[in-house]
Parts: sequence; structure tokens; C-alpha cells
Amino acid sequence: MPIVGATPANDGRPDAALHRLSTAAATSLGTVPAMDRSRLCARPGCGAAAVATLTFHYLDRQVWMDNLDEEPDPTGYDLCVRHSEHQGVPLGWVLDDRRTPIIPLRASVAS
Ligand SMILES: [Zn+2]
Repeated sequence: MPIVGATPANDGRPDAALHRLSTAAATSLGTVPAMDRSRLCARPGCGAAAVATLTFHYLDRQVWMDNLDEEPDPTGYDLCVRHSEHQGVPLGWVLDDRRTPIIPLRASVAS
């Protein structure tokens, strides 16, 4: 039995268009737009693209700097080039930079 006031999804009415819009918005929340926003430098006021992920273990006083995780790590901090290069640690802590070094392809040609 049809419900009074119910409309099919593809009848061209505004509520059908709204349904399509809300579906598109819900899809984008879990994909590219949300991911792009989360891959910016975590330092306040920076906003540059993140290239590294910093994680730490408080009890061991250990900090690790890795290449940017493919998936955002809720326990890590994404950092841009500038902030990852100038990251200090408190006295007594150890920073282990585990990033893959970037070797310029044309280094031997320049000399
Ligand atoms: Zn930054």
C-alpha cells in the first residue's frame, strides 16, 4: 500500500535532487575530500602539505619520524617538510628518523 506523500527517487522533484545531493555529500566525507584535509601539517597555523608522520611512546621517551602514513594515524601527527626537518624532542627523549632519504636523480650530472 503506497504511503501518502511518498515520492519515487527519480521523479525530478526537488526532494529527489536533495536525496542525490545528500548521498554525494555522505560519500565524499569518507573519501578524497576528508583525506585531503587530514593530510595537512598538524602544527597550528601551518597548513602546508604533510610529508611525514610523527609518533611517540611516552613511557619510553621515544619519538619516530616516518614517511607519511598512507592512512591517517589517529595517534600520529602529520608534519610538513619544514616542521619535520626542525622537529626537536625534550631532553632525555630520542628521535629516530626512519624516513627514506630522498636522493636527487641528477646529483651526478651537476658535478
Ligand atoms: Zn608545518
